Amino acid sequence: MPHSVRVRFAPSPTGPLHIGGVRTALYNFLLARKLGGTFILRIEDTDQARFVPGAEAYILESLAWLGISPDEGIGVGGPFEPYRQSERKTMYKAYADELIQSGKAYYAFDTSEELDAMRTTFESQGSAFQYNAVTRVKLRNSLALSKEEVDQLLANDTPYVIRLKVPAKGEIRFQDIIRDWVHVHTSSIDDKVLMKSDGMPTYHLANVVDDHIMQITHVIRGEEWLPSAPLHILLYQAFGWNPPHFAHLPLLLKPEGNGKLSKRDADLGGFPVFPLEWKDPQTGAISKGFKQEGYLPEATLNFLAFLGWNPGTEQELFSLEDLIEAFSLERINKAGAKFDVKKAQWFNEQYLKQHDAKELAATYLPSIEMEKGEAYVHLFLDRITFPQQLEQMVQEFSGFPENYDESVLASKWNAETKQALEIIVASLPLCHDWHADQIKQTIQECLDQAGIKMGKVMQLFRVAMSGKGAGPDLMISLELWGKDQVLARLNKALEKFPTI
Ligand code: GLU
Repeated sequence: MPHSVRVRFAPSPTGPLHIGGVRTALYNFLLARKLGGTFILRIEDTDQARFVPGAEAYILESLAWLGISPDEGIGVGGPFEPYRQSERKTMYKAYADELIQSGKAYYAFDTSEELDAMRTTFESQGSAFQYNAVTRVKLRNSLALSKEEVDQLLANDTPYVIRLKVPAKGEIRFQDIIRDWVHVHTSSIDDKVLMKSDGMPTYHLANVVDDHIMQITHVIRGEEWLPSAPLHILLYQAFGWNPPHFAHLPLLLKPEGNGKLSKRDADLGGFPVFPLEWKDPQTGAISKGFKQEGYLPEATLNFLAFLGWNPGTEQELFSLEDLIEAFSLERINKAGAKFDVKKAQWFNEQYLKQHDAKELAATYLPSIEMEKGEAYVHLFLDRITFPQQLEQMVQEFSGFPENYDESVLASKWNAETKQALEIIVASLPLCHDWHADQIKQTIQECLDQAGIKMGKVMQLFRVAMSGKGAGPDLMISLELWGKDQVLARLNKALEKFPTI
């Protein structure tokens, strides 16, 4: 076993990479970076029937967007090339043959019709068929048939699969880093197919062989693979290899916490469960992506890191560097993690505020002159969740109000505030330096002279300007509207407000 940590993310290109897969990649990456190890990206594409064009490129783009960069593997290269399993096809056969030689695996010639018939017979007797130590003796395989029969079948090119000979009796034990000891009796495991009749290895064989060859020290993957782990341990034993350490990550649960998160929940809730937008190559259907919805990469990373892990402190905002520093497998929870989209939005709001206003203005308000765009960004930044909301905010801000907040009018519109608005209309033309501070000072002075407290009229003034009882900083808003427009808005309001 090498001294330094070697971990891998091993997705199958069967569709868009789920956000849970991105979390798996992130945890692997964090551990490697933390311990000065190597993070490997391997593509597990041995299931040709489930291969989806574009899915591999999607995986690479998603990881690149988030800065989860592999040190070795697809797109990078490394000492164990190729890293795409379909390109390693011939190698797996030699390993399967090795198990046949050592008596740990066997040829099975049963046709799918024969196996279906078996299943039906078992079902009619109220039980489920398993290809295992009990049934294998009555089936068409190299354990049940004579050597001559087997040689003949092989010589005739009869299609076969290679199955693992799972011991009839025995207990498999391993200590998962997150779940602690896992015990499984071999009788609950069937004689899994290792090589398919098309000459392709199954996931189990390819995965174990590659993890061994690539000297993987820690297998960190989703909980859905926990049931496969005992079989993998058996395979390591069959080959006489030391297994890596295992860490099975907690499930991602629906936002309410009841049950596994599904794409359907996401569709119903209107939130994404994929890192990037995905267009199904067959149906053309579009699935939302975090990126296109306006989530920033740093917010997405922070949100994902907290889905199942916590630093054990109150700190919530972690840059990628901070995460590397703080991460440990020991602080990952066993219990499923609620996919709380509100929390993702909160992270986005926090990181958005840290973004450079110039950059945001240039990207999201490209048609607005730079200085003004930047001022808009400052005005709206703590009122938005996603940067693309800026444009709409500016649009709403620029339009004249059609309606005025009735409840503010009912409580604040009276002879005194009417007089105050009239004073403001008269005073503003006197303000020659149209900046928030100066505007405020001018208004203040004129109201003081009339003995009216500024606080009494400000909300009404806001309603006169924007129609709304609440909004961004009023003085800066006035500056941005410009003197003419402010006066026009005020005059319109005085016209439209009920007569007193
Ligand atoms: N190819 C498997 C997947 O799609 C890999 C599981 C594992 O990490 O062992 O997730």
